[in-house]
Amino acid sequence: MHLTFRTSSIAAALLGACGEPDAGSATDTATTSASADTGPASADTGATAPATETTAPDATGDPQSTGLDPTTGAATSDATTSDATTGAAAGCADLPLCDDFEDVAAGGPPDPAVWTIASPNCMGTGKLAVADDQAHSGGQSLRVDGGGGYCDHVFIANTAAIAGLGPVVHGRFWLRLEAALGQGHVTFLTLRDAADGGKDLRMGGQSQILMYNRESDDATLPALSPAGIAQSVAPTPMQWTCIEFSVDQSAGYVTTWVDGAEVPGLRVDGEPTPDLDQQWLNKPDWKPDLEDLKFGWESYAGQTMTLYFDDIALAGDRIGCG
Ligand code: CA
Repeated sequence: MHLTFRTSSIAAALLGACGEPDAGSATDTATTSASADTGPASADTGATAPATETTAPDATGDPQSTGLDPTTGAATSDATTSDATTGAAAGCADLPLCDDFEDVAAGGPPDPAVWTIASPNCMGTGKLAVADDQAHSGGQSLRVDGGGGYCDHVFIANTAAIAGLGPVVHGRFWLRLEAALGQGHVTFLTLRDAADGGKDLRMGGQSQILMYNRESDDATLPALSPAGIAQSVAPTPMQWTCIEFSVDQSAGYVTTWVDGAEVPGLRVDGEPTPDLDQQWLNKPDWKPDLEDLKFGWESYAGQTMTLYFDDIALAGDRIGCG
């Protein structure tokens, strides 16, 4: 009981901090609202190559790319392959966007035909480069050294792939965090929403768990109550985690899987559920129109992080972790 009470107290304190801007979030709000987020970000669009540029010799590094058990030919029991609409993980080469970060030199930027480097609004200490000290596939991944201040953010951005998709967007990426998510709010994935004033749909962490944050109104998914927090998960540090997300833009639905298992707290399904998506659905008719995809690090309460991304993919159907 003591533990429950203490957890509640902490969460309540955090909720207060998030709902009404304190010094930290005020900084965040002020910076982002001053932003003309669309300005610098839209500059990204020009340089981005068609989705077909995406390369993808990734299948070679991915022994389970079929999603089938080689001994039986049957779909493996892993939940990553259980999606009836796809049946198996798609080959990287067939996807609108797929990058395993193997085709450029370590120490430099990712393929400039696919990614631009973005630090919307302001720049600080954050940096990123293709690196060979960690990899999920092959020998390289994207390393981000994210600073603790808002302006220490840095992202890679692609706009072409998402523009070529239909209303349902599926993403898959492997993430390795070198430290646990902290109590404060951080973001490692953003999707700019043209239907929400150009503000971002963000995926990241708060209260030590994976969560979404809607930049326009600071709504979180799940709600950061003890019950909501319990319905999400915390990635294990120094270990690769497969994250998949689906956004049905027409319906305003979000679904999320971690290592193939759907996370109940990271679902918006149009049916307001207390502690989960009720707060999210307080914004009537949220129907995102996503126009870019960015990976990196942005921190609103001081947490720094070294993190890695690999095997980033985007498609109109579920991709799977294979
Ligand atoms: Ca790789």
